[in-house]
Amino acid sequence: MPDKVDVAVIGAGMAGAIAARNLTQKGLSVALLEARDRVGGRTYVGKVFGEDLELGGTYVHWTQPHVWSEIQRHNLIVKPPITQGDVYWLANGTVHSGTHEEYYQASNPVLTRFFADATARFPKPYDVTAVDNKDAEQETIEDRVNSLQLSPYDRDVLKGTLAGIVHSYGAHGVTQLLHGVATYFGDYRSFYETAGRWSIQGGTKALIEAILNESTAELRLSTPVSSVKDDGSQVIITTRAGQTLSAHSVILTLPVNTLGDVQITPPLPPAVRTMIDQKNPVMAGKLWVLAKGEIPHFSAYAPAGKHPLNVIRTERYHKGDTFIVCMVSDAAAISPNDLGAIQTALRKFVPDIKVVNAAWHNWCADEFSKGGWMIHRPGHMTVTLPHIWRPHGRIYFAGSDIAALNLGSIEGAMQSGAAAARDVTASFFKSKF
Ligand SMILES: Cc1cc2nc3c(=O)[nH]c(=O)nc-3n(C[C@H](O)[C@H](O)[C@H](O)COP(=O)(O)OP(=O)(O)OC[C@H]3O[C@@H](n4cnc5c(N)ncnc54)[C@H](O)[C@@H]3O)c2cc1C
Repeated sequence: MPDKVDVAVIGAGMAGAIAARNLTQKGLSVALLEARDRVGGRTYVGKVFGEDLELGGTYVHWTQPHVWSEIQRHNLIVKPPITQGDVYWLANGTVHSGTHEEYYQASNPVLTRFFADATARFPKPYDVTAVDNKDAEQETIEDRVNSLQLSPYDRDVLKGTLAGIVHSYGAHGVTQLLHGVATYFGDYRSFYETAGRWSIQGGTKALIEAILNESTAELRLSTPVSSVKDDGSQVIITTRAGQTLSAHSVILTLPVNTLGDVQITPPLPPAVRTMIDQKNPVMAGKLWVLAKGEIPHFSAYAPAGKHPLNVIRTERYHKGDTFIVCMVSDAAAISPNDLGAIQTALRKFVPDIKVVNAAWHNWCADEFSKGGWMIHRPGHMTVTLPHIWRPHGRIYFAGSDIAALNLGSIEGAMQSGAAAARDVTASFFKSKF
């Protein structure tokens, strides 16, 4: 006889943790099935150079309602970002430098044009269908850049500023970026401030552990799920090891790039299947570099495809050396084992820098993520996501990749996990009475 629970939640990242916690607090019995031997998913505090470092999702903000509510609830503290130093930017084949204010003067006109219609496209960011965005939904980031008819210098300034979140300008649709900025009042600076500066003391590990400590869900680690079948009266979940579990409903919180590895019955709507087959194109990385000495703080930007390191920033000093974090648009373009190549890439901006060590978690090679954060391909954000938000019989979906707001972020994961738990709870109690 299979085990039986009220709800099975698949995946113990931020979406799964919130869903499991919320469901158990409503009195439902929950099994939380996680493929890896740890919780956290694409947030991961790992030991690197003897230090606890964030190898995945890190930055949070008080303007993110779900994140901030958990931070307050668990009395966690956010760490202010370091003071910004000089900025270097690779544009039209040359490295330019200036103060933060000078970089703003260089980049603001092009970014303002790029995001000009964000609020008009998404006047109610919580409802992506409020306006007909069929035309924008077909537009790639590259199309949008081309439409602005920029000089080679301005084009690289714009692309460099976007490079920290982009893999390939031609692969991503423009709508998700417009939606992200619309969520922050149409102000791209607020969007960037939210996305990349404030971190949690004790790391994202402290956050997810605090959430899971409030849950009575049975956590089963090292339990990859291979199939999920809704037979009309229950859902049967089968693990790769051949164990089965039955539940009233299931919430799948997997990254889009691994959803295709789970056999789902009945078949998904064609639009959802197409999104899963086309995959999230973000094959990017986050590289930690330890550089010799206490280097004056700096940041640097380079367009994706024109340099192996795309957004670089000193993070903090460590025993007389400097931690630098580098967002790498194309994880295949550099290896943490090739310190020489990393040093050469950094010396493009800071000529005398000496690299001591480097490390990352390779999210693209990891079979339980198969990629980084989500930036949707054209055609999906406003069109396909509404399909996957609807329950597929007793099968529900959640996760940052398909969130209604703050797509691709920890906040999006939490928001969608909470929404799925709400819907499953309503359906569960409706079926009982
Ligand atoms: C390098 C990097 C940097 C980032 N930086 C930021 C940032 O600074 N701020 C921010 O807000 N966001 C950031 N993000 C994005 C953010 O980390 C993610 O969007 C978010 O954590 C995803 O949460 P999730 O619960 O939706 O999915 P995941 O965290 O991916 O959780 C899904 C879980 O499902 C499990 N799983 C997969 N397949 C199976 C299976 N078959 N059976 C059972 N379990 C399975 C996985 O192991 C995983 O634990 C970053 C992401 C990366 C990769």
